[in-house]
Amino acid sequence: MILLDSVTKTYPGDSEPALDHVSLHIEPNEFAFLVGKSGAGKSTLMKMITKEESPDSGKIIIGGIDLDYVKKRHIPGYRRRLGVVFQDFKLLPRRTVYENVAFALEIAGMSGKEIRRTVPKVLELVDLLDQAKKFPDQLSGGQQQRVSIARSVARQPKILIADEPTANLDKLTTQEIIGLLKKINDFGTTILVTTHNEGIVNNLQKRVITLKNGKIVNDQKANGIYKLDETPAPKTPVRKVQTPGHALRPRKVIQ
Ligand code: ADP
Repeated sequence: MILLDSVTKTYPGDSEPALDHVSLHIEPNEFAFLVGKSGAGKSTLMKMITKEESPDSGKIIIGGIDLDYVKKRHIPGYRRRLGVVFQDFKLLPRRTVYENVAFALEIAGMSGKEIRRTVPKVLELVDLLDQAKKFPDQLSGGQQQRVSIARSVARQPKILIADEPTANLDKLTTQEIIGLLKKINDFGTTILVTTHNEGIVNNLQKRVITLKNGKIVNDQKANGIYKLDETPAPKTPVRKVQTPGHALRPRKVIQ
């Protein structure tokens, strides 16, 4: 679903790569967190997926599409196939909740009839049907993020990526938003979320991928916990065991 093969990216003027031979495979229907300190390369990896940036080398295949073959004029169409959620919501301030979602569908070429059928369903999913006529500045931060999520899932994307979706929200609202992302994942959407929030990562017990200096240093496939500094454990730890009559020799530890 999301496949990166040895992706390397150095921004012009930088001496160190932002991504250094990153290989990653996220399967259909997975929910994965991407964590790492500031500057680790998380946003750059997200930008590789949305094709805001291109790699210097390596291959990226998203939902079966090889991004090398997505021409510049086709990038907006490609992006509309992804659900993208931002930390600052990016809502249209002069449009109501209903119109914000409807507008995204209009751009995607959906008919008026289909839009009128789809928008209420999506607003119901995010529990905002009763706020449909309000404008973004009449909503709380959590409600605004729910509109933004509604807008990105309205087109039923197979993949949803969210860059720090809870960075501007309080603890309770954060849990609400993560619960909503989990619900969307349960409906079959593959989800990749970057976050600094240790609590939500540890609670959800999903896959956790850790970036450090542009490299994946840890990839916990299930029940992952938030740890930024640990380097990956060797696959077969070797312990020195004293055997009578023999010199010290390493022996494999059976796990
Ligand atoms: P994160 O999202 O984990 O904070 P980023 O992907 O934003 O990390 O940054 C990774 C590295 O790339 C950092 O060293 C950062 O300074 C550098 N970088 C990011 N964007 C740019 C840019 N537009 N131009 C130059 N360097 C950049």
